Amino acid sequence: EDQFTCSICLEIFVEPVSTPCGHSFCKACLQGYWNHSKKLLCPMCKKSYSKKPEMSVNQTRAFTGRLLSH
Ligand SMILES: [Zn+2]
Ligand SMILES: [Zn+2]
Repeated sequence: EDQFTCSICLEIFVEPVSTPCGHSFCKACLQGYWNHSKKLLCPMCKKSYSKKPEMSVNQTRAFTGRLLSH
């Protein structure tokens, strides 16, 4: 499934993180992209950020457990 692959390296996510715009990348890929482009934009939708956005680490299984117990 496409949703489990990083659109930068086209591999299964390694340390997946999500941007506030809702796209997911490997942490290293996203940081490498930003280093290379010198601009903080989402590689998928090109949403630009004035500063490095909070990236949420995707912990689907952990989150599910917390949501269920809520
Ligand atoms: Zn990647
Ligand atoms: Zn995006």
